[in-house]
Amino acid sequence: MAEIVKAEAVVLRKTNFKDSSLIVQFYTKEFGKISAMLKGARSSKSKIGSKVDVLNHTEIVLYKKEERELQLVTQANLKNYFPNVKEDLDRLKYAAAICELILELIPENENNEKMFRGLTKIISLIDKKDSDPQILFARFFLFFIKEIGYEISTKNCIKCGAKLKSTQTNAFNYEEGIICSECYNENILSYKLSSELFELFDCLSTRKKINTVNRKSINNVIFILEKFLTYHIPEFRGIRTLKLL
Ligand SMILES: [Zn+2]
Repeated sequence: MAEIVKAEAVVLRKTNFKDSSLIVQFYTKEFGKISAMLKGARSSKSKIGSKVDVLNHTEIVLYKKEERELQLVTQANLKNYFPNVKEDLDRLKYAAAICELILELIPENENNEKMFRGLTKIISLIDKKDSDPQILFARFFLFFIKEIGYEISTKNCIKCGAKLKSTQTNAFNYEEGIICSECYNENILSYKLSSELFELFDCLSTRKKINTVNRKSINNVIFILEKFLTYHIPEFRGIRTLKLL
């Protein structure tokens, strides 16, 4: 038996199906990531097609069957469509990278309300004209990594527990996270962090204000996090969106 339910959902990806339908991946507050069929959504008479653009925050009605891989969505109401993100290639790139992380690394049907709130909040912030999408993405990436079970701490060395200080030479170990200078001497296969880079990690993960924005350093943080995830999840090959756009 199918159950008729409402869900709050962000559109992650849509693909054309047959003559007039769509297959859409949504991240929902209630059920986590789901795939759904939207019959006839591409026909000119459809009231639903225009509302399910990628990134849109919507409220959907679905006929939900537990054992079915593709759910059926029959209605969608728009809550927010983030116009500024869609007009700006740089904003769009980072918002698309966020969708990619969820599409690639989160299993279907696992609900996580905190992740859903994090997702809608970060896209709303990227949509603000005075915001910095690259910093917002790096912050979200750290939050995301924590939510999927691999927290990176800038407080204490992950190996020995010593308090980390920016005045020492800390390092990033791809297996474990940030380690202190003493542990670095024993694990030289780690990536040495300059004090600037360590402080940036600290600001990004604790939401402290970032005073001087060095694009290259933020890219470096994103690169280190990608390598960290590749180490833990071998099938993950890095974020394609950031390389393409
Ligand atoms: Zn240590």
